[in-house]
Parts: sequence; structure tokens; C-alpha cells
Amino acid sequence: MSEVSVRLPTPLRPLAGGQAVIRAEGGTVGEVIVGIALAFPALSAQLLTHDQRLRSHVALYLNDEDVRYLAREATPVKDGDVVEIVPSLAGGSSEPEQGRGTIRADSVMSREEMRRYSRHLLLPEVGVAGQARLRRSKVLLVGAGGLGSPAALYLAAAGVGEIGLVDFDVVDASNLQRQVLYGTRDVGRPKLEAAKDRLEDLNPDVRVRTYPEKLESGNALEILRPYDVVVDGTDNFPTRYLVNDAAFFLGKPNVYGSVYRFEGQVSVFDARRGPCYRCLYPEPPPPGLVPSCAEGGVLGVLPGVIGLLQSIETLKLLLGTGESLVGRLLLFDALGLGFRELHLAKNPDCALCGPRATQTGLIDYPAFCGVGAAEASDRVPEIAPGELSRALQAADPPYLLDVREPEEWAIVRIEGAHLIPKGELPQRLSELTSAREVVLYCKSGLRSSEATRFLLDLGFNNVRNLRGGLDAWAREVDPDLARY
Ligand SMILES: [Zn+2]
Repeated sequence: MSEVSVRLPTPLRPLAGGQAVIRAEGGTVGEVIVGIALAFPALSAQLLTHDQRLRSHVALYLNDEDVRYLAREATPVKDGDVVEIVPSLAGGSSEPEQGRGTIRADSVMSREEMRRYSRHLLLPEVGVAGQARLRRSKVLLVGAGGLGSPAALYLAAAGVGEIGLVDFDVVDASNLQRQVLYGTRDVGRPKLEAAKDRLEDLNPDVRVRTYPEKLESGNALEILRPYDVVVDGTDNFPTRYLVNDAAFFLGKPNVYGSVYRFEGQVSVFDARRGPCYRCLYPEPPPPGLVPSCAEGGVLGVLPGVIGLLQSIETLKLLLGTGESLVGRLLLFDALGLGFRELHLAKNPDCALCGPRATQTGLIDYPAFCGVGAAEASDRVPEIAPGELSRALQAADPPYLLDVREPEEWAIVRIEGAHLIPKGELPQRLSELTSAREVVLYCKSGLRSSEATRFLLDLGFNNVRNLRGGLDAWAREVDPDLARY
């Protein structure tokens, strides 16, 4: 006989006295299951047929392995093994029973609210009291983009009383692939105007407050202060650190999410109970070391997954239920389709939340994308789009070098250019000429300015960077150029 733990799914726990994990004994998986069925007779009908065989809608796992591919019920167990019961779930689609005590709450909730939130009211973890709590709650979403869109929609639908949104962008056609708050007719509108319309249509009970401005050290504390939970849906490091630091100084939980290509991360930073973002990454990387915004593609569904995980964590924090991600970093891999979890410890040397903290205020880091980043990088000789256009038509045109990625090149390019992605430049220098001037370009001018600096340092002296990249070229020279 070995002693094992049996993990029960939520629907079966009430049949075992509310326990999530039961200690049980047996020599095989089958013996363990029969053992718990005997100890908790109510479980028996759920798990076993009348002739004591395992029901077919119940899957059994031994230490994360499906026993059907081991020796089924005859699979031997040893001390310390974990048997997990995984039932098939249909989802909460049954009609609420009329007249049940749980939804008789006319005094705290209108009939419309009871109808709207009935699937919440039927959950013991939410119920009338929890729903009223959500209505009193305030959540700030920093960023109304890929992560903020699903989070805003579901938090509004769930009945969070007040939702604040910080974003100063305008809806662009390239947003619609993942930013599901917006529709085609919103292209060109300020995001927060469109978001407010959509959220108020989804749930008129929700108050939507908008902050159409950039989060900075000067306004961050004031904007975050009224809210219970802050959801970090930013796409850049300066704002991410600001959100973390401001949430720390105000003593608020910061629900973190980030996405890149096919991978995402989620955690909850709350320095009162666990680590902060700076415990994980003390300082942002220097601007040149991270893939710039223009390079980073993302599978459209991915921020949906991550933004919704952030919403779940937010609702749990507001309701005071469940086990939050404080102290844990959840990693999601869409290509391999799997989650991994890393333990996140509080860093005793954290400059922000550690016992010998040295940081006493908010920090504005230089921008990582676009104009600010180009200014932050070393100055290199530049050529304006109009001047380049004229030079390309002259008798002795410059050698035009595109340093973007092949995927970007496939979307759009300047005629006559040569492609050498920035990362391949060191191995492909022999393809360059020193007889003609070399003009480098990328999407926004940042990557190409770094590549220009690289060539200058190697002794190429007749090189210039296209100021503002393809974006500026499209604005000033060729308005018909495809944008991405
Ligand atoms: Zn910290």
C-alpha cells in the first residue's frame, strides 16, 4: 500500500467535504479511486459505474500522465504520487433555478443587474455580495491596446463599477488584428473615445474614465491613486517601470502582462505580499538592446489570452478569492501550447521594495521606440526623405540599404534598395561598397541609426541614415506606400 494525494476538480469537491486534495491509500490507481469512493459515498456515483468500473467521462492522471497510456486502473502507485481526477466540463450554461435564495437580493441589486450577472450570482465565490463588491471596485487599465482591449471588455462585462483607461493613441488599421475593443469604423478615432462608446454599450452600469495622455512621473501617482487594482497593458519599458513604481508607492496590486510573437507572461506584483517588477528586472534594458517596437510581431490571439488572464487575476483580487499569481510568473507558449510557472522571490536588494531601498521617486526612462529613442541613440549623419528622393534620381544615386527583417521587406520597400537585416550586417559587410554613398533605412529610423553607427565605427565614412525611416518617407515622399 502506498499513500498518495488525490486532487479533485471543483465540481466534485462538495462531495468530499469541500476538500481539494484527499490523502488516500492503495497499490494501484484503481484501488485508490475505489478507496476514496468508499470514504466519500457521494463521490462513488460520480466516479464509478454500478459494477465499480471507472466512468468514461472521468479522466485520471498519475503525476501528470494519462493512465490510459500507462496501465489504466492497474497502474501501480508509490508513496507521494499525485492522482488527478479531470472530469469533462460543459460550462455554466444551465438556466438559473428560479426563486433560489442566492439571487433574492432585491435590496442590493436591481432586477436588470440580477439578470445580467446571474451566472456570477450562482457562483458561491461571487454571489450577490461579490457582485456588489465588483460594482464598488475601480480598475485602471494602462494601455488600451492588445492586452487592454480584452481586459476592458471582460471587466466591463463582469460589472466592475469604474474602469479607467490611459492611452493617447489613435485607432490604426494595423491595431484591428488584435485590439478587439475597436472596429473598422473607429480607424482614425482617438482610442479612448471609441473604447468608451464600446464599453458603455456593453455595460451601461460601468463608469468609464479616460486619461488621453502619456503616463509620466508627473501624473502617474495622481492617475493611479483612486483605483483598487492597476492592470499593466503597456507595450514599452518606460511606462512599465512607471506603473510598477507608482503602484508600489501607492500600495496597490499591479497585474502584469506582456506578449512577444507567440509567447506571453503574466504575474501579479504586490510588494506588500511578494515581489515587484524591479525584483525581477531591476533596470530596463538600454534602448538598443531590445527588439524595437517595429520588429516585434505578435500572433493576434496571444494578447487575448494574456489580457484575459490579467482580467481573471484582477477579478480574484477584487473579490478576495482564489490564489493570486503573487510570487509566481506564468509563462505561456502558444506554439508549443503550454503554460509554465516560475517561482518569483522578493529580491532583498531591490532598490524599490527591498529593506535597503534607495529609490524614493518615479523615474522617466528615455523612450524606446520612435523619435525619442532615435534622439537617445548616438547622433549619426542623416538624410531627409526629400533629399534622398532627389539623390535617387540623380546620375550617381546612393546605395540604398534596408536593414529591416525579411517579413517587413515583403510588405513594402523603397525601389532599388538592397536588403541586409541589421543582425546579418556584420557577416555581410563584403556586399557593401565604399565607392558610393550608402544610405540606410528601417521602419522608424532607429534600427538603421544603430546600423549606421556600426558602419561608421568600422571606418565606412560615406554613410547616412534616412531620418524617420519608411514612416517619414511615406509621409513626405510617397503617400501611397503601404504602411504597417
Ligand atoms: Zn522589488
